[in-house]
Amino acid sequence: MRIEVVPASQFGEICADEFLAAMAIDKSPFFGLPTGATPLPLYAELKHRVEFGRANIERIYPVAIDEYAGPREHPGSNHTYFRENWMTIPGAHTVFEFDTRALDYDVEAARMEDLIHTLKGLSASFLGIGLNGHLAFNEPGTERHALSRVVELSPESRSAATRTWGERTPWLGLTLGLGVLLQAKRVYLLASGKHKAEIINRALTGTISPECPASFVQDHHDSVVILDEAAASELPRSLIAAKGDSAAAHG
Ligand code: PGA
Repeated sequence: MRIEVVPASQFGEICADEFLAAMAIDKSPFFGLPTGATPLPLYAELKHRVEFGRANIERIYPVAIDEYAGPREHPGSNHTYFRENWMTIPGAHTVFEFDTRALDYDVEAARMEDLIHTLKGLSASFLGIGLNGHLAFNEPGTERHALSRVVELSPESRSAATRTWGERTPWLGLTLGLGVLLQAKRVYLLASGKHKAEIINRALTGTISPECPASFVQDHHDSVVILDEAAASELPRSLIAAKGDSAAAHG
């Protein structure tokens, strides 16, 4: 596990550097992509670089890691999020995503699981972390080899979703399973803000267990954790120094 701690002002740039570097993993890399507030600076920085001719993302095939079981065109859907934040980057490929127009969500989740297996796995998973330690919609209690499936959203996930869904916040979500997310050749965990400090500390220094799905990142063979200083503020200095020693490099 490599831990990068960066000033908040550089979070998007460092994430973009890592994102573009991860293209070297495969000729046509398939990246699992997150939504939420955390990756917004990443997508904005990618857009900026591509528009200024400093980057090219045409080789990347994006895969949405989760979706709300709600209307596809709703402003709170991940479909809408990607339309606004990914598809606006010049050269961006259309996102492989859970289609909530499907009649049967179980079949739709199985379709996404099969897709990833057909691709022989993701090149990289980019993941945010929920306040309860979830990865995508793999909520606490999820086993590490869990398949892609329909899940009941945790109270924490529902509460976060009310920002965009209001009273109509869905009760269910569709998610790539921890199995395929953690089988990616490289796993990136991104977190920013003081409100993530406690769960980041638990995920990176606590027991590896389904109670905190993000804790499985600890023993992935190629995991990279990118934190701003606030999100890293409860981690022991020794862990940052031993595993990354990059606070100084970016600070
Ligand atoms: P956030 O969501 O980036 O909006 O904090 C992260 C997550 O719930 O995975």
